[in-house]
Amino acid sequence: MRRVALLGATGSIGSAAQDLARAYPDRIRLVSLAARSNYEGLIRAAEEFRVPRIALVDKEAARRAREVWKRGEVLEGEEALAALAEEDGVDVVVNAVVGGVGLHATVAALSRGKRVALANKESIVLAGELLLSLAKGSGGALIPVDSEHSGVTQCLAGRPISDVRRVTLTASGGPFLRRDPASIQDATPQEVLKHPTWSMGERITVDCATLINKGFEIIEARWLFGLSPDRLDVVIHPQSIVHAFVEFVDGSVLAQLSVPDMRLPLLYALSAPERWGSELPRLPLSELSTLSFERPDPLRSPGLTLARRALQAGGTSPAVLNAADEEAVRLFLGKKIRFGDLMPLVEEVLGAHRPQGTLTLDTILEADRWARARLHEAAANVARG
Ligand code: NAD
Ligand code: MG
Repeated sequence: MRRVALLGATGSIGSAAQDLARAYPDRIRLVSLAARSNYEGLIRAAEEFRVPRIALVDKEAARRAREVWKRGEVLEGEEALAALAEEDGVDVVVNAVVGGVGLHATVAALSRGKRVALANKESIVLAGELLLSLAKGSGGALIPVDSEHSGVTQCLAGRPISDVRRVTLTASGGPFLRRDPASIQDATPQEVLKHPTWSMGERITVDCATLINKGFEIIEARWLFGLSPDRLDVVIHPQSIVHAFVEFVDGSVLAQLSVPDMRLPLLYALSAPERWGSELPRLPLSELSTLSFERPDPLRSPGLTLARRALQAGGTSPAVLNAADEEAVRLFLGKKIRFGDLMPLVEEVLGAHRPQGTLTLDTILEADRWARARLHEAAANVARG
């Protein structure tokens, strides 16, 4: 039985995790749940899974939750995420919160030697190196939920990284794969949020359209697998059936395939190294005849270029990249900036950053704050101009 703290329980990955808890009542027990402000959704889940403790980051939402829900404890504020993550009665933390705000919970869980099933890729983008050394010191484990990284982990199956020549992550290419870049500058949030193959939260869906999501995933892979960026590739694969390729030093290539359904990598993150039988959708082999792969066009994938630049600059640069993008996406969804402004604004902030070489939690959080403020300054100029 895995006792699970589910952070980000009301989101897209959170509801996939709820599905798995429903499907495996003998193996998965949810012991705590957290979300930002959706107290109704959180209470519904708490009732269904008989969870004694929930947390709402938004204090007003926590107050309302206490008014209507008397069967358990309601924690509040950002600190509550880490508090749930480090509790003694928790074996696995599913971190499915969106944004850099998820970092503290990952740190708290790893410091206590727990397994983290990590959907919150921002944790690794911000602090990959620190998290790995934390896990090493405490006996904790960081298991990726991101489908591509789950694919790589499954292909590696415990082999050492010295056996690997290259890793290739696939990208769907997003909703604008075949559009002329000039024609998407004014794309609306509504158009951007129509992802062709995956159904996901808003931020990651926008990040798929600029391809910066795949850039974050390169950074994620760099730390998770200890591979230098020149051994990490991206290939556009519009069908999202193959999630990753691992080429070994002898020239043999393994790939991991499945239907695009996040419950599959999440299930593996919970069961690994075991495999649990499932009723999840199976891959119809007849569909394999339509698989295609192509090189990303640099003009259509500015986010990929920026992420490689941030990795090269090192230190706090990836944290700056994430924070600037997070704020830019928020402004875009609020219709304050155009789609075409997103990557130039992030680029401006990244370019203005002087990376801090010594990486500590403090320097990372300081860079994160700086980047958010700087992005808003830059965006105000764009809006005025
Ligand atoms: P989502 O927007 O659907 O859900 C986000 C969850 O986080 C919600 O439960 C929300 O209440 C919570 N949240 C939002 N802001 C918060 C805050 N400030 N403090 C605490 N909780 C907060 O997002 P999602 O698509 O489920 O993505 C979650 C994470 O998983 C992201 O890091 C994303 O990059 C990653 N991921 C998602 C997918 C996917 O298919 N959805 C795939 C790969 C990786
Ligand atoms: Mg992914």
